[in-house]
Amino acid sequence: MTEIRTPITVAYGDGIGPEIMRATLRILESAGAALDIETIEIGEAVYKRGVPAGIEPSAWDSLRRTKVFLKAPITTPEGGGFKSLNVTVRKTFGLFANIRPCQAYAPFVSTLHPTMDVVIIRENEEDLYGGIEHRQTEDVVQCLKLITRPGTERLVRYGFEYARRYGRHKVSCFTKDNIMKLTDGLFHEVFDEVATDYPDLESEHWIVDIGAAKLADTPENFDVVVLPNLYGDILSDVAAQLAGSVGLAGSANIGQEVAMFEAIHGSAPRRAGQDLANPSGLLLGAIQMLMHIGQGDAASIVHNAWLRTIEDGVHTYDIFSPDHSREKVGTSAFADAVIARLGKTPKILPAAHYPISTEPIHIELSPRRRSQKTQTGIDVFVEWNSDGVLSLAKLLEECSGPDFQLSMITNRGQKVYPGGAPETFCVDHWRCRFEANDSGIVTTAQLISLLARLDGAGIPFIKTEGLYRFDGKPGYSLGQGQ
Ligand code: NAD
Repeated sequence: MTEIRTPITVAYGDGIGPEIMRATLRILESAGAALDIETIEIGEAVYKRGVPAGIEPSAWDSLRRTKVFLKAPITTPEGGGFKSLNVTVRKTFGLFANIRPCQAYAPFVSTLHPTMDVVIIRENEEDLYGGIEHRQTEDVVQCLKLITRPGTERLVRYGFEYARRYGRHKVSCFTKDNIMKLTDGLFHEVFDEVATDYPDLESEHWIVDIGAAKLADTPENFDVVVLPNLYGDILSDVAAQLAGSVGLAGSANIGQEVAMFEAIHGSAPRRAGQDLANPSGLLLGAIQMLMHIGQGDAASIVHNAWLRTIEDGVHTYDIFSPDHSREKVGTSAFADAVIARLGKTPKILPAAHYPISTEPIHIELSPRRRSQKTQTGIDVFVEWNSDGVLSLAKLLEECSGPDFQLSMITNRGQKVYPGGAPETFCVDHWRCRFEANDSGIVTTAQLISLLARLDGAGIPFIKTEGLYRFDGKPGYSLGQGQ
């Protein structure tokens, strides 16, 4: 019988990358994983050849062909002009979900939380990571935070589907929607909507600051956590370290077509070439890959042998301690120890039992809604240095003309006109809100003539934001920041 091998793309990376990749592939092969490996070059050497993304065009062809990428860490050269390879791959292939299981291995690896077993599922493409930043005035720079309904829905649905498939009981969501009512508010709203499709699972929402504190204090109360990109970036490292070590965590970056699997740590150049590094993070990423490609039997064999190795106290230097460890080994001896235990299961830690063959989780989005969108005004951001807000307000009111009224001016989100406190610290960046006089709808021609009047009065506008209503509901924050 001919064995069907799954094509995957492998990159050996930089620093400790080649050593931990060789160790990982040796273990996978010995466990009978059916893989047909294409190797690509990424990272430092490619950057230094003048390819700013650190990946050659031919490598993209391999990734498009196999759709599965097992990647060792790379070194990002210091200095400007180099793009993050991870961000490029994630965005190019729409790898919207980053999955990081964070599990304690007590009493075999030191941890403050011996029963911790949390899966962090982070949105991977949106939020503040669009890289849309501008310097607008002498004083002010801005970064655009984008949260979208479809981007959030597919991440949140993935979280619930993941929980169902892997026998988890609860999905928690962290946002800061008491402050960012529209952006984080949308993430929370979509979470609540999607949760109603999974009545078999518990769901809960925490404001991210207290949620993070609870996660650090009592991680055993959490199971699956879904988060927007920035909070997820920070808290997944915190959770991995809380569980025992960032060096033990693997991660999966999942898209609708392509998926990438890796360790969460970097290329640790100081440890390179010494056969010292722990291959566990990459191996645990590779176990997620085996599940993704429907080789759950190999995933269980590898995971159980790895757990048994950890239990037997065969440890690399980073997790070695005289209290828990029996033997200090290097990278390749650790791989040998795992291979020697293939077919064995852990005695104390819970054994892994993955479904033998599964399809990748596929997400269907809800039908798109269409609202009635109308524009009732405009926020004009202006640069203004002289004389304070009253002189600015006077000029703006003179410019508002027959169609608009100036309803407020804020500085860094704080209302300074009308009213305002003399103590408020102001910079050279003012948000000036003009609303349609009769609360009606404004036309593009009216907006253009308003901006022309501002220009004529010598008020430089930096940017504008439309004030839209969707089915009559304001699509903008109403008052000052909090
Ligand atoms: P790092 O994670 O590479 O290393 C920090 C320290 O952690 C190391 O000095 C080492 O003591 C320890 N460590 C990390 N992995 C280990 C392992 N497997 N076994 C034993 N010890 C381990 O972080 P860094 O030093 O900040 O970054 C080094 C390079 O890696 C940088 O160029 C950075 O840009 C890159 N990086 C790449 C990725 C990636 O490719 N996904 C991720 C993070 C950092």
